[in-house]
Amino acid sequence: MFKDIFKKTRYVTIQPAPVQNRSSSEISPQPPTLSKKELPDSLWVKCPKCGEVLFNKDLEENARVCTKCEYHFRISARGRLALLADENSFEEWDTELITLDPLEFPGYEGKLLEAHEKSGTTEGVLTGRAKIEEIPVVLAFNEANFMMGSMGSVVGEKIVRAIERAIELSLPVVIFSTSGGARMQEGILSLYQMAKTSAALGKLSDKHLLYISVLTDPTFGGVTASYASLGDILIAEPNALIGFTGPRVIMQTMRQELPTGAQTAEFNQEHGLIDLIVQRAQMRSVLARLLRYHQGGA
Ligand SMILES: [Zn+2]
Repeated sequence: MFKDIFKKTRYVTIQPAPVQNRSSSEISPQPPTLSKKELPDSLWVKCPKCGEVLFNKDLEENARVCTKCEYHFRISARGRLALLADENSFEEWDTELITLDPLEFPGYEGKLLEAHEKSGTTEGVLTGRAKIEEIPVVLAFNEANFMMGSMGSVVGEKIVRAIERAIELSLPVVIFSTSGGARMQEGILSLYQMAKTSAALGKLSDKHLLYISVLTDPTFGGVTASYASLGDILIAEPNALIGFTGPRVIMQTMRQELPTGAQTAEFNQEHGLIDLIVQRAQMRSVLARLLRYHQGGA
């Protein structure tokens, strides 16, 4: 069992770090130790869009947005939280939920442990309540560093619990999706989370509570086909890839070429899926404005 591996490796409890401020040091988790061999690679990053070689520290200080061409690099769940939430306002929920290996899928336990070590978190989503410019809100962020934010039972359960608490507390919900889709290692239990999260959002909607979905790079598969697409307002980050299936599979199935730029946030906005594309630096103020409009206070 994965829980046993946690015990053996002393990773039983992972206390969430409180959000002290929105400084650059919060933007991505620091690796626990770096060998001499690893050090040079972690200092510099090449921008995949403009090719500029960026000093990693400068990139972190700029919220992981390229200082030359504004390409949005992926960012950790806690990095996003630090950029969005008011200082010390975050209360994390359901940290005790740990994924088991119900199907005894070959290699899954090892993958979970690896993901835990890479991300410093226990699962592919971070949930809780916080304030954005003094407005109370329920937040969820997929963690790209944990199996690319794929949705297994715990991810689905944490999102549903967050939505149900939002209903109890009469609060709006904002979910940041970053996900490769459903988690194959949990089979049908993973696919079941699509219906479960969608049903919970249906209840939220019945209570006339606002749900803003923010799609970030990449959002695919079972997550696109469930909670990520069900927002009252759909926002995307620039250059985020958003779709259901990857382009190669579509081309093989449909036997036709995809249009240029298909599956980018910009293409999806042009074709009506996305309402707004918002730069990371403006995300906090845009969300605050939207939340305020729906409070009737603006
Ligand atoms: Zn660039």
